[in-house]
Amino acid sequence: MATFGTLSDRLTETFRGLRTKGKLTPADVDGTVREIRRALLEADVALVVVKEFTAKVRERALGDEVNRALNPAQQVVQIVNEELVAILGGEQRRLQFAKNPPTVIMLAGLQGSGKTTFAGKLAKLLEKEGHTPLLVAADLQRPNAVTQLTVVAERAGATIFAPEPGNGVGDPITVARDGVEFATRHQHDVVIVDTAGRLGVDAELMTQAADIRAAISPDEVLFVIDAMIGQDAVTTARAFQEGVDFTGVVLSKLDGDARGGAALSVASITGRPIIYASNGEGLEDLEVFHPDRMASRILD
Ligand code: GDP
Repeated sequence: MATFGTLSDRLTETFRGLRTKGKLTPADVDGTVREIRRALLEADVALVVVKEFTAKVRERALGDEVNRALNPAQQVVQIVNEELVAILGGEQRRLQFAKNPPTVIMLAGLQGSGKTTFAGKLAKLLEKEGHTPLLVAADLQRPNAVTQLTVVAERAGATIFAPEPGNGVGDPITVARDGVEFATRHQHDVVIVDTAGRLGVDAELMTQAADIRAAISPDEVLFVIDAMIGQDAVTTARAFQEGVDFTGVVLSKLDGDARGGAALSVASITGRPIIYASNGEGLEDLEVFHPDRMASRILD
């Protein structure tokens, strides 16, 4: 995965140095922790996350589990792996389906974060699993958004619910609500509601998203965040958490050559699990997110 290339290389190098040592002194541990800290900061991981992560690694690395280990260096690598899994959310969390269909999934995020693309990918994935998703075009801000979702729906082979062309832009809350009703009447067991994103977090957008959330009571609100966002991940994620109280995260553009800091920060900052990772422009480029596999990819 291109995204974590540099971070991965830096950590591998750090551990290579560590492995030449037999017993580890506190100075060895401190040196290693400092290098890990530097590598994470260079990868744009949020400072609060880096601090917490390195404090935990240091505490454990200086403790008995490393002293007693046959191979102390290997034990430190193991600790880093476990703590990486922890900041990535720990256990894998699957999409939650409603007891009584339709399951309503609302998407939120900045414009350009990859929401519309993800809507198509998710529809396709769910279809493969035997579901009958409906895509709802409730992004009425961007002139092109409805057309774009229509194209995505066609490619995914999914039905779309959108305001009739020529009827004015309409009201996104009504469109979202009518979309869910349409799904109920036409036996779509999952509804994916695409909402408007703006270039920056703004109050009007948040109010609109919060109103849509209140109107359709979604089973999941997925916050789509671009892996390239860097240090802005903290403010953006917190603003969306406050605004729409999302239930899960989708990382997008993990195929890019970004440093990956957002990916490593967002679960820890918000306490919300990452459910999917999007890694390409094609409709097939979507993976269920596994914290342990992601940690292994970074450390391999
Ligand atoms: P939205 O404004 O949040 O709906 O974002 P879009 O879905 O329109 O995506 C914005 C741009 O990012 C488009 O050019 C997409 O093709 C591209 N994009 C979306 N997801 C990915 C991804 O996972 N990888 C890459 N490389 N590009 C992506």
